[in-house]
Amino acid sequence: MNRDTSRELYDRALDVLVGGVNSSVRAAPQPYPTFVRKGDAGHVVDADGNKYVDWVMGLGPLLLGHDAPERVTSSVQRRTSEGPMYGMPTEVEVELAEFVTRHVPSVEMLRFVNSGTEATVSAVRLARGYTGRSKVVVMEGGYHGAQESTLVEGDAEHARPSSAGIPQSFAEHTIPVPFNDRAAASEVFEEHGDDIAAVLVEPVMANKGIVEPQDGYHDHLRGLTREHGSLLVFDEVITGFRVGGLACAQGKFDVTPDLTTFGKIVGGGFPVGALGGRTEVMEHLTPVGDVFQAGTFSGHPVTMAAGLQTLTYAAEKDVYDHVNALGDDLRDGLRDIVDDKGLPYSVVGTDSLFKVVFTRDGEPPENTADVGKAAVDRWNRVFRPQMQERGIMLAQNQFESQFVSDAHTQADVDATLDAYDDVL
Ligand SMILES: *Cc1c(COP(=O)(O)O)cnc(C)c1O
Repeated sequence: MNRDTSRELYDRALDVLVGGVNSSVRAAPQPYPTFVRKGDAGHVVDADGNKYVDWVMGLGPLLLGHDAPERVTSSVQRRTSEGPMYGMPTEVEVELAEFVTRHVPSVEMLRFVNSGTEATVSAVRLARGYTGRSKVVVMEGGYHGAQESTLVEGDAEHARPSSAGIPQSFAEHTIPVPFNDRAAASEVFEEHGDDIAAVLVEPVMANKGIVEPQDGYHDHLRGLTREHGSLLVFDEVITGFRVGGLACAQGKFDVTPDLTTFGKIVGGGFPVGALGGRTEVMEHLTPVGDVFQAGTFSGHPVTMAAGLQTLTYAAEKDVYDHVNALGDDLRDGLRDIVDDKGLPYSVVGTDSLFKVVFTRDGEPPENTADVGKAAVDRWNRVFRPQMQERGIMLAQNQFESQFVSDAHTQADVDATLDAYDDVL
């Protein structure tokens, strides 16, 4: 496979873009990232013209794949030709908000922003403003975007910033606990309950290997937060409109959070984030309340139109049946391959998320620390490049999810399983 153009573009990029990329994870593939020329249904074509089955799917946003239905492209084209944005409100923002509130029962009101990071930043600020408290509980190894309050590592007693440039004083307000560990969550509430503004959790940990909640885990968090007057914030930036269909993961698990953050799919492939919840909480945001929030591009008409058309298409067609059925086929097929070969690896995921984590003991991961013990180098340096050579584009590293889109076909699944069978 000739990838000379990608290598040359990366070489040029290294001079003018930090690390050659605009988002860190894109630089992870060995020995250099693949530059994309275009998408085509469930495939991407790289800068050298090689075509791959694409399971990256923009790292989550592309529920419908690379060929958007006509209604999405025509509404995007009309919006861009009418002047892309105005700094004044438009009907389409109202329509998308109406759609989301109709399908996600815990969400009565929304504020659209421009990225998942912005959504979680605003959620933390709102939770602090609403409760008058400072501390936030997060899951160890979780990801809520590039924000000061959640870029932490360590445990409840020893939280420290996970990045340079963040004062230790931020980490002092953040309490990481292991996912799925009820006792650990109860303990921090016993000790700090009156100071905890919120628990921020992905309903399914989808940024580090895909870890599903054990039965009742979210009910436990719901109980603790309610009892102590803290907010339960579901970060559904990945799971929103993917896991649990239009009702999102909170519908699937039948848990009602106080606030929900969205991103990725809700913008139909354009930059987006959103924060939603009960009116009584949401109205603490400015201009009604006193928690400041604003953004020049927020509620961008092109993004709103793409999100609205994508989601109404998903509501009218059998998109979730299709992507979830292919997800089941992939996970079943991968389990058979791993079992046949007697490998200790774990096939993880739900709905349209899937991944093979290179666990060493055959035990499915219960939290992100378990995922972190996987055979990362084998995945990155041996396995992934061979899959790419076979025409299968997987996530950039061992930890990121892989995503099924409506554009994927049974043939894509079969080709992918054949490649796993050869390469594993
Ligand atoms: C992607 C992601 C974010 C950050 O969203 P950006 O749009 O990249 O800023 C936040 N939380 C979760 C769970 C995510 O997967």
